[in-house]
Amino acid sequence: MNSNPPIQPPPRDGACFEGIPAVAGRASGPAWVVHARLDEIPDRTIPPEEIDAEIARFHLAIAVTRQQILDLVTEVSQRIGPSEAGVFDAHLMVVDDGFLKSCVEKLIRERTACAEVAVHRVTEDFSAKFAAMHDAYLRERSSDILDIGRRILRNLMGVSETIPSAFDQPHIIISDDLTPSQTVGLPRDGVLGLVIDRGSATSHTAIIARALGIPAVVGLKHVSSEVRTGDEVLLDGYKGTVIVRPTPDELAEFKQVCAAHRKASVDWQRSRNMRAETPDGHGVTILANADHTSDLAQLAIRGSEGIGLYRTESLWMQLGREPDEDEQVEAYGAMVCAMTGRPVVIRVLDLGGDKVCGAMPVQTEANPFLGLRSIRYLLKTPEVFRRQLRAILRVSSCGDVQIMYPMICDVEELRAANVILEQCKEELRAEGVAFTESIPVGAMIEIPSAALTAHILARQADFLCLGTNDLVQYTLAVDRVNENVASLYQPTHPSVLTLIRHTVKAGVRYKRPVSVCGEMAADPALAVLLMGMGVNTLSMTPTAIPEVKHAIRKTPYADAIKLARGIAAHASTAEDARRMCRALLQRTAPELLA
Ligand code: PEP
Ligand code: MG
Repeated sequence: MNSNPPIQPPPRDGACFEGIPAVAGRASGPAWVVHARLDEIPDRTIPPEEIDAEIARFHLAIAVTRQQILDLVTEVSQRIGPSEAGVFDAHLMVVDDGFLKSCVEKLIRERTACAEVAVHRVTEDFSAKFAAMHDAYLRERSSDILDIGRRILRNLMGVSETIPSAFDQPHIIISDDLTPSQTVGLPRDGVLGLVIDRGSATSHTAIIARALGIPAVVGLKHVSSEVRTGDEVLLDGYKGTVIVRPTPDELAEFKQVCAAHRKASVDWQRSRNMRAETPDGHGVTILANADHTSDLAQLAIRGSEGIGLYRTESLWMQLGREPDEDEQVEAYGAMVCAMTGRPVVIRVLDLGGDKVCGAMPVQTEANPFLGLRSIRYLLKTPEVFRRQLRAILRVSSCGDVQIMYPMICDVEELRAANVILEQCKEELRAEGVAFTESIPVGAMIEIPSAALTAHILARQADFLCLGTNDLVQYTLAVDRVNENVASLYQPTHPSVLTLIRHTVKAGVRYKRPVSVCGEMAADPALAVLLMGMGVNTLSMTPTAIPEVKHAIRKTPYADAIKLARGIAAHASTAEDARRMCRALLQRTAPELLA
């Protein structure tokens, strides 16, 4: 197992960090610290009386690093061969280099720098000097020095570089950053919770964690450099707090809160399979958001009436490549069969933005969220699009399968996608393969231009689905993964609500169903507002279904309509609207806000 012994000064007992509540739930357990980036080097000034101890800490890190390299040499010699193991000779030379060590000691002693800063500066400096040398052999040593510098730093900080594929006991992962692909690959049984320096509640990392039912707090900025592997951690994904090395009182209070919540939720967990119908008889269809990692058996019993959003890109992210047509047929077919005739809305590939994977060889873009992502990428690489559409069509006759195009900007994109769909149908007809000729095709409304032209799109699409996660991002110009602007990310902003209203109106006018599959639908107070605005289908992460159904079952439809009208007339800020939503829920289902 890849565990680095922590050589850090211990964090304060009971240190509490506040971040963004990303995935509801609570967890307690030992930390496993992973640093994807090592650009957050802790910077402390060492008081004179601690200088010797700091230098001793540095030497201990050197000794650990040396042993790790020797272990690597043994492993590579046995598994590959002694000559391949020879590449680590240069690494040993770097850790044993007396001049390098004396430069680090000097920075600690004379500049009162902490060991991390000293190692970072010295190895960067050495590496830059080697990179500028004429001799090719010496130039190549530049990267060895950087590599060793990072290894020493990781040992000083007590952080691991990778997440193991299995743990001997479950841990809370603490990381500076975690990509959606890393999150998809997390060992299911080994992860109790996620604590991440970066991100927001609607980043795809958070969305995947939610789908996996892993409580998470994100946007904590520096927590990963304050915690060390093995520290006891209490994570509260409702409040967005993380307590490191809790005191006995904190631990006791945490246990009490968990027990009280478990007791209160028994009520809505028990009625999760009942229909979401208001006390005055208005029904709302509740669907689940799913992906390739979803537990099919769980999906079937979580109280959903089908799949309102199947994020197919998760299959690409898990494989790290494009699945071939048959692999896609197998994955989509399994989902459709598990849903036994209930609708399954399969969204075509939505890679790009923060969902990157090796399968999509695009150039690095300055603004990936505004770049070649999603349907734009598919229309540029029609062979990829064709393989996916053929696979969806091939499973279409096994159930109620629907196709959804993400990131539609205007009707031209919708038409262009449909041209390719028709070509795929033609091919399958010629091959004698059965499929549903009239398969419904919907457009996601997640770009303001699509919402503003919803009346045009509605004439060409069988249904519209509001992707509020992106709609909020693009309407308010707030990056959905950037923790620095997370407070500006407001689903109840009047502009966003106006776009939703416009889309619903277009759906009513052209008799097209309008659903919401963004995270807004998973918030009970906002789900009630959406119902009042005329949205009759909500799709959400399966774990949110019981609470949302409970909110709907307790709130009269007439009150929800009054709320929506009141907000349209009087709420001039996002906060006004949110307060009004919470006030209604406080009246109808206060237990959900407790
Ligand atoms: C959305 O944007 O609201 C949505 C559901 O899609 P994703 O979160 O996958 O971008
Ligand atoms: Mg989206």
